[in-house]
Amino acid sequence: MRRAQLRDLRLWDGTWTWCSGFRDGLPWWCWGSAPAGLVTLSQLREQRLRRRAGQDPFGLLVFRKHGCGEQVAELYRVDLAVAARTYTLAVAASVAAMCRAHRTCRRCRREFDRYLPTSTWTCWPCMQATGDFGEPAA
Ligand SMILES: [Zn+2]
Repeated sequence: MRRAQLRDLRLWDGTWTWCSGFRDGLPWWCWGSAPAGLVTLSQLREQRLRRRAGQDPFGLLVFRKHGCGEQVAELYRVDLAVAARTYTLAVAASVAAMCRAHRTCRRCRREFDRYLPTSTWTCWPCMQATGDFGEPAA
């Protein structure tokens, strides 16, 4: 079998490299030959990173696994990835505070066991007292 011809490829930083070819419009490499700065999803996770919203793969990694045939993994740019969110105590506290804000009347400061309407942020007695029911101005 003839070895696939290497193709020139320009990277996001303007440097030239090569790839093994293109598949579905994406450059692909064999295991171990992908340029630095491109990693698979599991490698991103190992670095406690995650994809940015809407981040598309830059290329593909094609490799063979014993008994599984050809495997294709998507490669993502590390420089575009963002730090993975970990559910820390601080995050939990801010979520709790947010929920509390939704349940607390902004006028009488009483806390309820359900969310208050976001149009007024007040409880029913307060809405009756102020006459503001959050209806659009006529
Ligand atoms: Zn109230």
